[in-house]
Amino acid sequence: MKSNGRLRLIGKFSEGTKKYFVIVLIASLVSTILNSLIPKIFSFTIDGVLAEGGNAWLKEHLWVLAIFVIVLAVGNGFSIYLYRNNTAKAGETFAKNMRDSLFCHVQRLPMKWHSENQTGDIIQRCTADVETIRNFVVTQVLEVSRIVFLITVSLVMMFSMNVKLTLVALAFMPVIVVYSGVFYQLIARNFTKADEAEGELSTVVQENATGVRVVRAFGREQFEIDRFDEKNDFFARMWIRLGTLSGLYWAVGDIITGFQVIFIIVFGAVEAVRGNITAGQFVAFASYNTTLVWPVRSMGRILSEMSKTGVSFERVNYILESQEEQNSDHVMPKAFDIDFEHVTFGYNEEQMILQDVSFHIEEGKTYGILGGTGSGKSTIVHLLDRLYELEHGTITIGGADIRDVSRKWLRTHIGMVLQEPYLFSRTIRENIAATNSKASMEEIREAAQIACIDEEIMAFPDGYETMVGERGVTLSGGQRQRVAIARMLLAKAPIMVFDDALSAVDAQTDMKIRKALRGKMKNATVIIISHRITTLMEADQIMVLGNGKVLEQGTHAELSKNGGIYQKIYEIQMSQDDRDLLWEGGECNE
Ligand code: ATP
Ligand code: MG
Repeated sequence: MKSNGRLRLIGKFSEGTKKYFVIVLIASLVSTILNSLIPKIFSFTIDGVLAEGGNAWLKEHLWVLAIFVIVLAVGNGFSIYLYRNNTAKAGETFAKNMRDSLFCHVQRLPMKWHSENQTGDIIQRCTADVETIRNFVVTQVLEVSRIVFLITVSLVMMFSMNVKLTLVALAFMPVIVVYSGVFYQLIARNFTKADEAEGELSTVVQENATGVRVVRAFGREQFEIDRFDEKNDFFARMWIRLGTLSGLYWAVGDIITGFQVIFIIVFGAVEAVRGNITAGQFVAFASYNTTLVWPVRSMGRILSEMSKTGVSFERVNYILESQEEQNSDHVMPKAFDIDFEHVTFGYNEEQMILQDVSFHIEEGKTYGILGGTGSGKSTIVHLLDRLYELEHGTITIGGADIRDVSRKWLRTHIGMVLQEPYLFSRTIRENIAATNSKASMEEIREAAQIACIDEEIMAFPDGYETMVGERGVTLSGGQRQRVAIARMLLAKAPIMVFDDALSAVDAQTDMKIRKALRGKMKNATVIIISHRITTLMEADQIMVLGNGKVLEQGTHAELSKNGGIYQKIYEIQMSQDDRDLLWEGGECNE
């Protein structure tokens, strides 16, 4: 990432943190100045009071000096409190802004992006990487100001006492800085690996948590445990290596600074013996030298933390720089007839899923799509909703090319029951009301009645307030589908799409739902996708899709007699359906 890109992002995330940063800067300046006065008092006490011919009054009243030191210490304590408190506020606000941006952005990223990126990795970037950056802002960025003040004040004091000794003290600094720089590179490289390993680990955990049924059903526990172990091992090894590196860095760093301190003490003592500095100055000088060495060492830590943060920043920025769904559109269709004209589409370049598909749906009519699995039926729906962008051919609604229609319009005017309906871990009522948060309980129940699920919901001990487990695992497949239908009906959209929405309910319930829906769909343009001919046969037009091509189009009456594939499927399914209809399903409200 270019540095101006980083600055722009930092600027964006810093919104609302300015006042905290200002307080932190002032507090750290005050604290540094107060702190730097304490060695001065010691030096004055040794040279100006305790020494031969020192201030007689003060010698009698040493407590005055003690009070001075206490006042300075309390003032320093208060500044440090303000410093820490506001550092936390700045860091948390910064992290909150960052999480907000990420979440909003992820919401707007295209489906294609989501199918190309792993959930665990996305979560890792939105949590652990944000945490690394927050930590850096809280502990390091503001620390820099403190360090700059400390170094400046210490150097001013030291130079004012003895130039030669100060130069000796400074001679070590390049060694420490170069040494830190080398480690900076090393840590950055290893942190990238460790962070990626963490992302992979969370992907495995997340997949297993959501796919627990499949894992159990196929007895794949051991396989998954082994897979986890392998990732876990790698993860642990990476962090141990990082820990070893940091340990080494600090240990060697301590030795280097130890040498520096010893050097200064020896040199200082020699200077004191020669009479170039007083005993008091020597004590104060040694104290300033420690204050100088410590921040220089911290600079090393800041560099190594910066390398980790740089990695996290890149990872967060990867999400933020991914193109959102384009929304440069403003046309509002006035009618709801749908046209597919020569639509050719593939999820990737190599394989075309739809080939030259054309069909027309009149407003207020019902259109049925029949086709084998993988023939491209759901793909038609994805394209209509602009979940994926079309490149060849056109799709129009009310005469308007959907590329000129905003996604928001499409998604509020096209009600969808997706093939694998997703329910949130909320109550059934909230799940149904997801499309219309203002709906009354009556409206919610009415939708549920049409979807033939009201009675079953009422039979649950908590009725509509029943919590749905994660992804709806506490409901049966058929119940989930019907909750999804109710949710879609509540949106009262003029275009309705049922993608295999009744596949998990028996033929009897299927028929009842269709009967109940008929009244509701009078004016709506409807697309029904199914493998089951009975579900489709009442449609005004039916299309048979095979391998992405339109094989036949017509009404049920036409298609069931033309000797084509539809007729064949119809005959096979009718013998099956006769058997199905012998089965008496439970009654449900209509
Ligand atoms: P089914 O009756 O099983 O639901 P379908 O007719 O709805 O089948 P589609 O879901 O449209 O079939 O899929 C058509 C083809 O597109 C399949 O071969 C599938 O592998 C492929 N496909 C579907 N979604 C994606 C995707 N996100 N990325 C890549 N290929 C995909
Ligand atoms: Mg499908």
